[in-house]
Amino acid sequence: MHLCCLDLEGVLLPEIWINVADRFKVKELRLTTRDIPDYDELMKYRLRILKKEGIRLKDIQKVIAGMKPLPGAAAFIKHLRQIHPVIILSDTFYEFATPLMKKIGNPTLFCHWLKVNKAGFITGYQLRARDSKRKAVLAFKKLGFGVIASGDSYNDISMLKTADRGILFRPPASIAKQFPQFPVCSQYAALIKHLRKS
Ligand SMILES: [Mg+2]
Repeated sequence: MHLCCLDLEGVLLPEIWINVADRFKVKELRLTTRDIPDYDELMKYRLRILKKEGIRLKDIQKVIAGMKPLPGAAAFIKHLRQIHPVIILSDTFYEFATPLMKKIGNPTLFCHWLKVNKAGFITGYQLRARDSKRKAVLAFKKLGFGVIASGDSYNDISMLKTADRGILFRPPASIAKQFPQFPVCSQYAALIKHLRKS
């Protein structure tokens, strides 16, 4: 039995922070793990910008409420769940992603939590675990599952390396070049073909 572990943003949903950056016209918030591979460094930077700009959690949630999954993502997940159990491993936060999960059929999501103060400003974040994607794959393997994983960015590489098979989905050219051991897909139909081989 194989479990399928998928990244969320860039694979099923647009990048949440990029949408937030565009909505509030704050270009510093457009940076993602593609630009700053160190997640802690990236998040601290983002929280500083939010504070400076006076953007609260509910302001971000309003932007997220208007977002849609990537075209074809809901049908892709529905199809994939008929082949493998699917777990989404993401470095986003439940406070951000939960409303969007409904739009892709509510697959299981493992991600992190935000810390929010009484005034509604995000003051920090609670990582469920460091290097949580890799640890989740390791734990599933200990439970006797084979694991196939797909993601698009730096924060997925340890997950892809730990899985029995890893596939890059729509990665930036630089990441595809840096990690040539992983096949690259740009369409869900091709990704399903890779994921169903087990
Ligand atoms: Mg991603």
